[in-house]
Amino acid sequence: MFSKHVSVLSSAYCHHELSHKDSQRFAEHLIACPGCRGDFEEVKLGAKLAERLDVLAAPASIWSNVVANLDTGRRTSGRYYFLKPLAIAASIVLLIAGGLWLSRRITTAPSQSWQVARLVGTPRIDSKSMSDQDQFAVGQWLETDAASRAQLNIDDVGHVEIDPNTRVRLLQTNQSEQRLELAHGRLSARISAPPKIFFVNTPSGVAQDLGCAYTLQVDDAGNSVLHVTTGWVSLQATDREPVVPAGAACATKRHFGPGTPYFEDSSETFRTALTSFDFDAVAEQSSKRSSLDVILREARSRDAMTLWYLLSRVNNNERARVYDRMTALVAPPEGVTRQGILNLDQSMLDRWKVKLGLSWDEVMQPKHSVWKKLWKETLGRLNGLQEKR
Ligand SMILES: [Zn+2]
Repeated sequence: MFSKHVSVLSSAYCHHELSHKDSQRFAEHLIACPGCRGDFEEVKLGAKLAERLDVLAAPASIWSNVVANLDTGRRTSGRYYFLKPLAIAASIVLLIAGGLWLSRRITTAPSQSWQVARLVGTPRIDSKSMSDQDQFAVGQWLETDAASRAQLNIDDVGHVEIDPNTRVRLLQTNQSEQRLELAHGRLSARISAPPKIFFVNTPSGVAQDLGCAYTLQVDDAGNSVLHVTTGWVSLQATDREPVVPAGAACATKRHFGPGTPYFEDSSETFRTALTSFDFDAVAEQSSKRSSLDVILREARSRDAMTLWYLLSRVNNNERARVYDRMTALVAPPEGVTRQGILNLDQSMLDRWKVKLGLSWDEVMQPKHSVWKKLWKETLGRLNGLQEKR
């Protein structure tokens, strides 16, 4: 891992300019350093937008006009000669950027593929038996039967093992996003790329890698269970986006979205009660209440993670009970009050989240400077264009 900060390498990473070894060290640093992670998020977004700009050859007249203006500008306007060509160049940038937003003509990167290795049996790609080493291209389905397994290898990102009776499709592969669809079955991912590069879509939500190893299983009804072995994974669906830490799991049900994350070493009674609290649609209020009774009674201090998520999923009366149980298990951080939590004060919830070690996503929001980065990327693309001429 790099011991110094690595923000300056973000753009090189996004453009595949780092060596394999440096890419890995870069990713490792990002997992440990929130500051560089925040910067990387911005560069990635800028690169993603710039990637989608159409590269069009400008009419020759534009360049001769620029040159002509440059010449007359030099002769006539003295020290401000550089302003006009600069204004023209800026207009071109704005026109191209504007065209992006107005026309919504989104170009996709040339179709790419992952390497896939046959582990046992005969996995099939688009219904054809695959060879020992094969290519898995965007849009293709990979399917294993009861006796076959395969491994997907993604350069500089990691690998994904596909278990028997599993069906996956490759949706996207480029430097800023690798996306797989898991229709049913089970996969195990070990990812060494920076956070938020590798995604798995399931019928009931999207698993977003935050630097980790995990298994994800989807049943025939489209419900899924995520088990995280190292790092963090967030689950995106509906209005919830729980972050699941190592050692924890989270179930997701179709039409319900993600349930509440829990540590897998919690008691079976605790987990059963949590499942019925999360997913029993027709549960009477009284049965929800008795599930909550069991959850609170069975919770260990480590399970304060689960209780933190429950705070914003219960009604006011129940919230007071969850709060009281949490404070009995883990002292709240300074500045967090009972009334504040009962009112779902966001800054207090966040502070408590940090104390529980669940603060992974707090630096992940891009800041305003993303526009500066986008501007730089756009200028980079234009320079590239000029060089080509
Ligand atoms: Zn750093």
